[in-house]
This record gives sequence, structure tokens and C-alpha cells, in this order.
Amino acid sequence: MLDKILIANRGEIALRILRACREMGIKTVAVHSTADNNLKHVLLADETVCIGPPPSVDSYLNMPAIISAAEVTDATGIHPGYGFLSENADFAERVESSGFTFIGPKADAIRLMGDKVSAIRAMKAAGVPCVPGSDGPLGNDPDENLRIARDIGYPIIIKASGGGGGRGMRVVYSEASLISAITVTKAEARAAFGNDVVYMEKFLEKPRHVEFQLLADTHGNAVHLGERDCSMQRRHQKVVEEAPAPGITEEQRRQIGERCVKACLEIGYRSAGTFEFLYEDGEFYFIEMNTRLQVEHPVTEMITGIDIVREQLRIASGEPLSFKQEDVKLHGHAIECRINAEDPKTFMPSPGVITVWHPPGGPGIRMESHIYSGYKVPPFYDSMIGKLIAHGETRDAAFARMKNALVEIVIEGIKTNVPLHQEIFQHAAFQAGGTDIHYLEKRLGLT
Ligand code: ADP
Repeated sequence: MLDKILIANRGEIALRILRACREMGIKTVAVHSTADNNLKHVLLADETVCIGPPPSVDSYLNMPAIISAAEVTDATGIHPGYGFLSENADFAERVESSGFTFIGPKADAIRLMGDKVSAIRAMKAAGVPCVPGSDGPLGNDPDENLRIARDIGYPIIIKASGGGGGRGMRVVYSEASLISAITVTKAEARAAFGNDVVYMEKFLEKPRHVEFQLLADTHGNAVHLGERDCSMQRRHQKVVEEAPAPGITEEQRRQIGERCVKACLEIGYRSAGTFEFLYEDGEFYFIEMNTRLQVEHPVTEMITGIDIVREQLRIASGEPLSFKQEDVKLHGHAIECRINAEDPKTFMPSPGVITVWHPPGGPGIRMESHIYSGYKVPPFYDSMIGKLIAHGETRDAAFARMKNALVEIVIEGIKTNVPLHQEIFQHAAFQAGGTDIHYLEKRLGLT
């Protein structure tokens, strides 16, 4: 088993990883910027190394500093968490070539899935359903591109193969604007991602976001842990997530889950990964794979009883998965609210000192957060300060617990989006289940 792990992240996920390590008797190294001396996991870690000034590029994205920290502390593995360097194939490669274990997939799997055109090719080959679209990158022949779009049918979306974070996409509603849209998206992609490869897909107008959680070891075993619904979004950022996804049948889960398993085995995937799909009119369409642990992993943990971070650590240590597909049983329903330090109306970040913190509790409530009374939320990073998760025997029971918890939670000194969550949980359409990815923005009058 890996005996000492460097956590190359911050905030709640760094604390989550530290807790898993402690349970397993693994020593921890926290690396942090000069703004993060007082982060909870930094205070709890066995060793700490300051890796640079506040800006992420100089600290949490600073590969040489992180690798040197692993060297001086004799860490054996590096867990990247999510965001930052977690999907950076060059980082994974440098970690492994420096003699450490990267707690995630191999660099070539990250690279394959990080490029959307190659990811879609690999998924099609494994029988995973994809959005109808161009067969690979678009060429420079306008007539050919017009023909492809006509065959797919408008509206279509032009997407950058190297895109991410909701950037590098453009929807086209009619033939008149197709050619200029391709030109502009290519230019933007070249500037933003250094890669001007773009492709075309059918634009689905009212999809839900449904994603499958996978785990694969290095002994040829892969399992799926069912799906999550993350349709409640604002600006492509997930706000609330739940598992299982309302209305998905056992048969659909089995079919799509099995294809994702097959895809993992075919690409030689290891560790945790998520296959993201758009779901519309009863059909699944693969859009991308996230080759890392996700923010919303706890909802899956709550309904399966499987500790995903623990499994990642076991897999990275060369152990086989501790269970088989038939052992995965879904129990009840779980829902997660992302708690952000931001104004609930304008969404402007609200950093500052937390003067009072009362976490919610009771049966089925899980609070994943690094904050404490007196903690100062720095202005330099993502505004998420925690995740509130509620589990219940049924979706209604999980909702009832979440509503209670959203009343109980007290965070003073800064603004948070708790009032927004309180409002969302009063929406009849959300309570009914199955709202699409545009629902929240429309309902809040943001579109
Ligand atoms: P990124 O890597 O930037 O997150 P994705 O491919 O995951 O890009 O797409 C991000 C979001 O863009 C999706 O969650 C969805 O809201 C929208 N989107 C992407 N492809 C389509 C499509 N074919 N039809 C409709 N919406 C799409």
C-alpha cells in the first residue's frame, strides 16, 4: 500500500482525501500556497510544504514545486483531487517519470479522453452511444460542412476538440450562419486551447445531464456505480446533483453502465472516471469523460456504500477492486448542494472571514467542508466552500432532510448561496424530478 500521499489540491477535496488516507493508515503531505496556511487539511496533515504565492499558476498549478515537495517529503503517491492538475496528462506523466504514483489514470488515457474528437472515436468503438455528428474534425471545404450540417439537421453545435469548462462551443440555428460560426469557433479555439480542431454535433434542446461513475483497477476489473443527475446548472456549473437520476430504469442503467465498463477496459483505464451523457427523450448521448474524481462523488457513495477515494487509493497501490459489479446495490436516494461563498442573487464571489459556522446534522446528513469559525475564505480560488449531502430511503425523504439541513446551516460573515438552495428546494418542477439543463437559468430569469 502507498504509505505517504501528497495531496495536490486545497479546500474540501483536500480534506476529503486526507480523511481517507488517515482511515487507511496512510501518511499525508499537504502542499499549499501562502494564502492557505490555515486550511483545515493543512492543519491536520502529517507534513506540509508551502509551494508558492496565492495565484494558482504559481502554486497549485506549479508542477516542479509540487514534484519537489514530493521528493523532499518522500511521498510515494500524489492525489490531484479535481480541477487544478487533475486532468493534465503532462503532470501525470511527470509524476510517474519522477518515480511517484499518480492517483488517477495513466497519462495516455487522460490525453485520449481530453481530446473530444479522439474520445468520441474511442467511445463509438466501444459501443457507447454518442450525439449524431460529424465523423471527426471538420475540414475547410464549406460545401462539405454545409452538407454535414444538413444531414445532421439544425440546430447544431460547433465544438472545439480541445475545449473544456463550457468554453469553445457555438450553437448554430440555420445554414446562413454556419460557415462564419465554424471560422469564429476555430479562431477562438486556437487562441484559447492552442488547437483549432473543431467538430459538429446535433444540438439537443432540452437534455438532462446524466453521468455514470466508473472504477477500474489494474487487474482488468471495471465496474460502474450507477448514474447521477446533474442537470441543475448555471453557466455549465453544476449547482445540485442527485443519485440515482429520476426516471432512469434498471435496464437503462445496466445497458449504459455495461458499455462504460467495456469502454474502460478497451482504453486500459484505471482509477475513478465519469462518463457524461446528455439524456433526451429516453436516449443517452455521450459528450465527454472526466478522468478524475468528481465534486459530486459523495451522492454515489451514499447510495452504494462504496468509498470512491478509498478505492482510488487501493487501485493506485496495485490492489484489485474490493467488490464486483453484482455486489453494487443502490440504496435509497442522495442529493448534494454545492455551497459557494457568493451572493445568492448576483453570484459575485464573497470572500472574507467566516465569523459563525454551525454545520447541519442529523440522520442522513453529510457535510463535506473545510471551513470553521474564524476561517478566512481567500479571494484567489473557486468559491465553493463545501457540499451538503442528504441521503434518505426515497427521493422525497432525501429532499425533506435537505430542506431541514438548509434551514439549520449557519454561515455568517460572508454571503453564501444557501438562500438560492432554499429557494430551489421549493420548486415544484424540481421536486417532481427530471428538469433539464436549462431549467435553473430560465427559472431564475438568467437567460
Ligand atoms: P466541457 O468540456 O466544456 O464541459 P462538454 O462537452 O461537457 O464541454 O459540454 C458542456 C455543456 O455544453 C454540456 O453540459 C451541455 O450543457 C452543453 N452541450 C454540449 N454538447 C451539447 C449538445 N450536443 N447539445 C446540447 N448541449 C450541449
